[in-house]
Amino acid sequence: MRSVTLPSGEHVPAFGLGTWQMGDAPKRRAEEIATLRLGLDLGATLIDTAEMYGDGRSEELIGEAIRGRRDQVFLVTKVYPHNASEQGCIAACERSLRRLQTDRIDLYLLHWRGQVPLAQTLAGFLSLQRAGKIRHYGVSNLDLADMRELWPLAGGQGVAVNQLLYNLARRGIEWDLLPWLRERRIPVMAYSPIEQGRLLRQSKLVGFAKRQGMPPAQAALAWLLTYPDVIVIPKTSNRERLKENLAAIERPLTAAQIDELERLFPGPTAAQPLQML
Ligand code: NAP
Repeated sequence: MRSVTLPSGEHVPAFGLGTWQMGDAPKRRAEEIATLRLGLDLGATLIDTAEMYGDGRSEELIGEAIRGRRDQVFLVTKVYPHNASEQGCIAACERSLRRLQTDRIDLYLLHWRGQVPLAQTLAGFLSLQRAGKIRHYGVSNLDLADMRELWPLAGGQGVAVNQLLYNLARRGIEWDLLPWLRERRIPVMAYSPIEQGRLLRQSKLVGFAKRQGMPPAQAALAWLLTYPDVIVIPKTSNRERLKENLAAIERPLTAAQIDELERLFPGPTAAQPLQML
């Protein structure tokens, strides 16, 4: 499995398992657990969840799926903004730990920015880190202004990732946030990397995938994986689709394929040199 380096120097898998909407339907449970376990077998040992997902049902499902294999897994979960005060974080983390049936979270994220001052959330994260309840902490859905505000605060420069919406059709972060994160060696965890399935129905991508002889999901994920500091976390509850998605790691795009995708899905900075002329 290819890896991405966190600012601490630790390596994590570049391909992780998203779990939003998992654990909600009893009749899908067995296949969901089998899919997560297959992911671990195939080296996708990073699992992303949140206290929000199914009101804790996603975390509970993961707790069951990783029983006996905890040490193999890099577990990511998120705190609700309304729970992200210093004491609120600590209480929310304890609840997540119970649902996940573990004594530590590898990466704990603020899910999005709410009313609680960022300094309080960071104080909670630092206290959890000192207590060994979380190993790393980070943020999600924070824009450039938020990151600039967070950076000088106590613990602000300890942020390990920013988890953001990023895919071929959603390249807004490339405008200013991604370069800022890159300068500081903070990886991006790309969520909804296939746009919740919608990207796979876009004719531009379908046509490209057909010409190149690969499934559209593989093409979309492989494009994100051309960046050494991007972690993808596609969600699937289906073992066959998981194998299809994982092929994106095994078969990187060629320079010509990347060029073609860039022409089909131009990013916000693509027009910049022309504008500057
Ligand atoms: P996504 O991963 O882009 O897409 C998931 C959808 O695509 C599911 O409906 C899945 O259905 C389908 N799918 C997956 N692989 C497929 C394939 N090879 N062919 C056809 N369909 C396929 O969307 P996401 O769930 O929004 O994002 C991924 C993860 O990011 C989430 O699960 C969550 O962990 C995280 N996330 C974080 C935030 C945040 O605010 N931080 C927001 C959204 C998501 P099946 O399951 O039926 O295969």
